[in-house]
Amino acid sequence: AQPAKRPQIRQLDEVAVNRIAAGEVVERPASAVKELIENALDAGATRIELCLKDGGKTLLRVIDDGHGIPAADLPLALSRHATSKIDGSDLLNIHTFGFRGEALPSMAAVGRMTITSRIDGADAASITVDGGEMGAVKPAALSKGTVVELRNLFYATPARLKFLRSDRAETAAILDVVKRLAMAEPYVGFTVRDITRDEAGRVSFRADAQSGDMFDALGARLRSILGADFADNALPIDAEREGITLTGFAALPTYSRGSNVAQFLFVNGRPVRDKLLIGALRGAYSDFLSRDRHPACVLFLELPPTRVDVNVHPAKAEVRFRDPGNARGLIVSALKHALAEAGHRASTTVSD
Ligand code: ADP
Ligand code: MG
Repeated sequence: AQPAKRPQIRQLDEVAVNRIAAGEVVERPASAVKELIENALDAGATRIELCLKDGGKTLLRVIDDGHGIPAADLPLALSRHATSKIDGSDLLNIHTFGFRGEALPSMAAVGRMTITSRIDGADAASITVDGGEMGAVKPAALSKGTVVELRNLFYATPARLKFLRSDRAETAAILDVVKRLAMAEPYVGFTVRDITRDEAGRVSFRADAQSGDMFDALGARLRSILGADFADNALPIDAEREGITLTGFAALPTYSRGSNVAQFLFVNGRPVRDKLLIGALRGAYSDFLSRDRHPACVLFLELPPTRVDVNVHPAKAEVRFRDPGNARGLIVSALKHALAEAGHRASTTVSD
């Protein structure tokens, strides 16, 4: 028998590496939107506008008024593992959404990306990456901040393109991402414009920047995103235990839902979908709701970065708690307490 032919080990080239990484970081247009808006927030933007075409498949454009990228750094921003957000290797002290330095090069590997940016006191510049090929930095016109345009996402990876859903479904997923980030950042104004039909577009989401203290700002933001019904039925939550704080709003059991579509959970300011936290919610409402009903809530858990690992997943949707029992215990006790008090208030009002 012929011996099997031994293939040679080779280092993958950068385009291939970026495409492979893109598979983890950008699953669909909504994941690109998450990365682009998080970058705008990390840059200190106070207004963020997203324009999309055809469910984000042909165009995503995020415009921010943040601190910008120096012209000379544009190629670096598009290089793998280049970030301005961590110093050295300290993954325990992360105060920004980003830190992996992967999003821009990954997106640029599966679409056509142009970044235009301007920092204070300098002229604007732009750079384009097409099919993994980086162009030169060129002078551009922009008054402030950064515009990142991503065209024809996944055209270079047809297998992924095939798995995208209808424009309507992709747009819905994008709006969900924007809403979650808008809940986490009530002082920032958000606009989403669908420019499928014409460049002026149709505003499909808008949340004006709020002011005042955090509870007021969050309350007003939730009223605009989730509606007056949620706001009128929500109990403020503000609890602390063993260095973990829990703030936000939890709705009365009477405002429950048939699925968990109205559960919005955040850990250290990041939107997460975490089984442990969802389980804790269920536990907190167990005396008040049947198994097929789901509570509505918007809750923010804050704990020292050393006690939670946000580096579990490339898209960072999951987190790992060092002591899961603490987080769970706080949620269950704080919500049970608030619900019991509300129940008590309701029954004394009735008997008055
Ligand atoms: P990360 O966010 O993990 O650092 P990215 O690939 O998303 O990685 O971005 C790379 C770098 O580009 C960031 O660290 C930041 O310095 C810069 N950058 C990206 N987007 C923006 C933006 N909208 N405004 C200012 N700087 C940005
Ligand atoms: Mg980023």
